[in-house]
Amino acid sequence: MTDCLFCKIATGAIPSEFLVETEHVVAFRDIDPQAPTHVLVIPRAHFQDVAALTRDDPALAGEVLAVAAQVAKIEGLSEGHRIVTNTGINGGQSVAHVHFHVLGGRGLTWPPG
Ligand code: 5GP
Ligand code: ZN
Repeated sequence: MTDCLFCKIATGAIPSEFLVETEHVVAFRDIDPQAPTHVLVIPRAHFQDVAALTRDDPALAGEVLAVAAQVAKIEGLSEGHRIVTNTGINGGQSVAHVHFHVLGGRGLTWPPG
């Protein structure tokens, strides 16, 4: 999608530094970090949310989660971390290209606000 921020990041139209880059998935730091580690993991292809991703390409959903776990390892989050995907207005999704947040480096409260 030409008008999607994360498509532009994935294609390099908006230059970004990737922590992990595979054929189908990229990981990059959130512009407004909510924890010492706050990384976003996305498929390069555009899917609106986790429902669309798992419906249309469940294998890719597995690849995205594997990269999220890899990011946690790279960032040294052995004491724990959180992987979360927000969906829709009530879920707090502000970018309509599915993404998984990898958060860690401090104690995270539960439940979230
Ligand atoms: P959501 O609210 O949709 O779950 O998460 C979107 C995330 O994208 C937010 O945490 C926000 O800080 C991040 N974000 C928004 N614009 C940019 C950007 O241009 N670059 C990066 N790296 N992150 C962004
Ligand atoms: Zn997109």
